[in-house]
Amino acid sequence: MHAEPAGFGAAEGADRIGDLDSYRNALGGLTRRQFLKYCTGVAATLGLSPELGVRIANAAVSGARPPVIWISAQECTGCTEGLLRSYHPTLETLILDQISLDYHETLCAGAGHQAESFREQSVEANWGNYLLVVDGAIPTKDGGIYCQIAGKTVLDTVVRLADGARAIIAMGSCAAWGGIPSSGPNPTGATPVHEVLADKTVVNIPGCPPNPYNFLSTVLHFVAFGSLPALDSKNRPRFAYGRLIHENCERRPHFDAGRFAREFGDEGHRQGWCLYYLGCKGPETWANCPAIGFNDGGSGSWPVGTGHPCFGCTEQGVGFTKSIHSLASLQTVTPPTAFPRVVEEQGGADPAAIAVASGIVGAAVGAGAVLASRLGKHGPTPERPPEDAK
Ligand code: SF4
Ligand code: SF4
Repeated sequence: MHAEPAGFGAAEGADRIGDLDSYRNALGGLTRRQFLKYCTGVAATLGLSPELGVRIANAAVSGARPPVIWISAQECTGCTEGLLRSYHPTLETLILDQISLDYHETLCAGAGHQAESFREQSVEANWGNYLLVVDGAIPTKDGGIYCQIAGKTVLDTVVRLADGARAIIAMGSCAAWGGIPSSGPNPTGATPVHEVLADKTVVNIPGCPPNPYNFLSTVLHFVAFGSLPALDSKNRPRFAYGRLIHENCERRPHFDAGRFAREFGDEGHRQGWCLYYLGCKGPETWANCPAIGFNDGGSGSWPVGTGHPCFGCTEQGVGFTKSIHSLASLQTVTPPTAFPRVVEEQGGADPAAIAVASGIVGAAVGAGAVLASRLGKHGPTPERPPEDAK
């Protein structure tokens, strides 16, 4: 007999800010101002009005820690590593203190029968109320025998636990699309979580690894409002996957002006020009990587920012499917949503501020002439953008 749901849901007090000590306790020494700034940033990232940051703040300090059962299937632990390599103190504090991570094979203090027993106790006590997170693809061939935990196939475990979950998140591209394990010839029948749980809503947070802030923001939305954020047609949170990488890339002015790197290490590459001809898949990949970056390094801390083409890891049918050197399909060549300077100052950026900035940047304006005036004056002669870009 399963226990009744414990009443976890939308946080109360949307119009009132909680007491200062709660914030201090919740956020490991951050000032109240820093904390509210962070929550306002989360609200902006989610596409909500900044006032709703107060509700998110209250949710974070409410003590309503959602129980999370995290199952790892066919994966490389990169998704978990990505989560742990976020050095922003508010993130690690929120992950460790604001959710109740009741079971995670890599992070469990216990092991073996002890860990399995605790998971079952949590599932029993929180039936109908926990978040189920799955990273990795699910092997389905031969009854799913190619990935087993405690003598049970992960296929059976995920199907069983999904019945009692209040929400299900597929974390990473392996869970969302099949990723590396499903690449041909796919000997284990690796399958995305949403195909295994075809009768349920599975929120996809793809990426290799996925950005932990997108996971955190999804969870905080759930805690604060008792519902999932708006999803797109592939069940990805719109706030994170609503724009093409190409729209917000800091190298976009070079694309529009026809300035391309042609080989790694050539003059164009050294100048920081567009990586389209090196196989960048930014024009067909939907994600917020340029806006929020990774590892708390700010908006320059992402592959294109360091000179490597995007390989489309978040996009179904692109990452792990198209060859790295093949050219991207140019889906919608719109003016970028912002006009970044060609040379950005690096370092010291606060992810919360970046989230706010990325959430409030305005509509696209103008085109080539304005862009051209913002470009540097040095380097090789520009060439025309790809023909199909017009
Ligand atoms: Fe590893 Fe990437 Fe798969 Fe996550 S999505 S498990 S980081 S290969
Ligand atoms: Fe940036 Fe890639 Fe688009 Fe060039 S093709 S502007 S490097 S996303």
